[in-house]
Amino acid sequence: MLRQERLLWRLQELKQEEVALTQTEELKAIMGRLKDFRGKVQTGEQELQSLLEMIEKMENEVAELEKKSSYWAEQVKISKDKLYETKGSSLKELLSLQQSVLKLESQGKEAENKYWELLKKIEECKQKKDEYKETIKVLQIEFDEGVTQYQKMKAEIELKFAEIKSKQEEVQEQLFPEVVKLFQEAERHYPASFVAKLHKNTCLGCHIGLSLASVKRVKEGKVLQHCDNCGRILIDFF
Ligand SMILES: [Zn+2]
Repeated sequence: MLRQERLLWRLQELKQEEVALTQTEELKAIMGRLKDFRGKVQTGEQELQSLLEMIEKMENEVAELEKKSSYWAEQVKISKDKLYETKGSSLKELLSLQQSVLKLESQGKEAENKYWELLKKIEECKQKKDEYKETIKVLQIEFDEGVTQYQKMKAEIELKFAEIKSKQEEVQEQLFPEVVKLFQEAERHYPASFVAKLHKNTCLGCHIGLSLASVKRVKEGKVLQHCDNCGRILIDFF
């Protein structure tokens, strides 16, 4: 049984390697970073979208103001012409005309100020838009690099996983059928620690002392012995 015990111990080592591989922190860390990048890219894109909408709205306002401005300029011209052409009008009528010209001119001036203000804002937004685009581009590149790194690492892990699995099979093929049955039973409860060493009459899996009869059977090595307490397969070749 000694060879079977050694094989079981080797199998357990391979199962432990398998567990360690599936719990690799590196892959999780990359995953976390990727999620973070994706979130940032999405936020950036949303901000860019609202910026573009704002620019569009302001550009519409500018177009509207341009229309209004040319209308007011025309109105001012008409009123001024009237003012100069007026002959024989009363002073009251003249004053009223003059006032309406002044009012139109002041409205026109206001619109013009607003127009330039809007143009300035649009310019600022467009600059911001370029900055956003650049940031998104950089984030996207980092994200893509992360994906490549993740895929490479995943492929390496899959390869290692396949290697470990084939080694496990290799070992398992050398086990007697009754031993396979025993280890599979113990494995259900202890996936990566189904075998325990016997040390000074104690099972090193659960650290509880064994009956002398059990210790004797383990030492004889004729049959494989379970721990009376935890059920792990006990080995004694160390
Ligand atoms: Zn035990």
